[in-house]
Amino acid sequence: MSSHTLAGRKIQIPGMCGGTARVFAGAFRSFGIEASASPEGDDETRELALKYLNGDECYPQVVTLGNFLKSTKEPGFDPAKTAVFMPTSPGPCRFGQYSHTFRRTLEQMGLGEVLVLSPSCANGYRGLGDIGPELFRYCWWAVVAADLLRKMLQRYRPYEKLKGNTDKVYWECIRDAADTLAIAENRGPKKFTDLAVCMGRCRDRFRQIPVDFTQKRLLIGVAGEIFCRLNTYSNDDVARKIEEHGGECWTADITEWVYYVNFWEMEEIRAFEGPWNLKMLKAKISDKVQKKEEHALAAIFAEDLKGREEPESVGEIVKEGEKYIPAHAALGEMILSVGKAAWYRKKKCAGMVDISPFTCMNGIVAQALYPKVIEDLGGMPIRTFYFDGTKADTDGEVAIFMELAKRYAGKEGLL
Ligand code: SF4
Repeated sequence: MSSHTLAGRKIQIPGMCGGTARVFAGAFRSFGIEASASPEGDDETRELALKYLNGDECYPQVVTLGNFLKSTKEPGFDPAKTAVFMPTSPGPCRFGQYSHTFRRTLEQMGLGEVLVLSPSCANGYRGLGDIGPELFRYCWWAVVAADLLRKMLQRYRPYEKLKGNTDKVYWECIRDAADTLAIAENRGPKKFTDLAVCMGRCRDRFRQIPVDFTQKRLLIGVAGEIFCRLNTYSNDDVARKIEEHGGECWTADITEWVYYVNFWEMEEIRAFEGPWNLKMLKAKISDKVQKKEEHALAAIFAEDLKGREEPESVGEIVKEGEKYIPAHAALGEMILSVGKAAWYRKKKCAGMVDISPFTCMNGIVAQALYPKVIEDLGGMPIRTFYFDGTKADTDGEVAIFMELAKRYAGKEGLL
């Protein structure tokens, strides 16, 4: 019998990317845990959160907290039977504050009985007991599958002949992946095989969409802060606007961040304990297994995503970024965003947008480095879009950016 603190509770998964959160919830459901994905957000959720925050918090914190607070107003909400998934991490970034702010706000509201679950390998999957390692493995599969489905969405949607078809197929596939992962009887390799079969079904659904791939479109890289670049409410659905102005987006995946965390774990072990030890061996094996599983699922989409392959190692991106910022002194998304710009250019992108929350430390540092990157890339346009929920003319700014990308593509022969 498993021991975990979620027994009798319903857990809510924050909708960083709505699709990923749904598939992630499927991984929890496979252990009989009632799990649901929170929506990506709306103006009401933002207003709700701002009643309890002082305005200094990062925008993803506002959106995630507001979404959860909205759910507390639903009929039948019971704090003693509710949990919210809020990962944490050490380090300078304010992300480490999110779970504390959640707890403090809920206590202020008299909802202190809500369980804020912040498990990680580092804290022994706190709160998840003996299901932790297995659940985390399934969560990884959920992230990989959802990343691939989002890639397919972005690959097909700009070329669809009938507006709305690709979104419809994408959500069908998300539901299918979530339900496949949720099958309780399937465990371990059987669950993975079933997920692979599901991915094959999803690929075939995308292939049924009537599209016109003869259209000439500009390939635009999308980097920046992980929540904001993926949460369509937070970023005013900027990827769709880029598509409306003649682009096709290639957004940095969630898996990229996981590999970056692995990469740094190994760098730290090397620095403090040397290159050969048990910790390093474990970290290497775990990274290799994750890569192998990702490759197996990605292979199903190889033909459809030809030319949109991710780097073999996140070290490639870090190496590009190191030309502008010392990797050992600047941990976080800033080096990935800067490095990704150069990498995207090698992959024939005509420009890159960096999507960051207003006042995001990573966004600010990356933006300060972009003029040099732009110069080195022969003028490739890189535009930082900051978001904090206030209304801005994103469409107008995207239109200008796409004009610059068009000129650059013409000059570089990318059209
Ligand atoms: S990456 Fe930026 S927005 Fe995200 S927690 Fe860190 S500082 Fe805040």
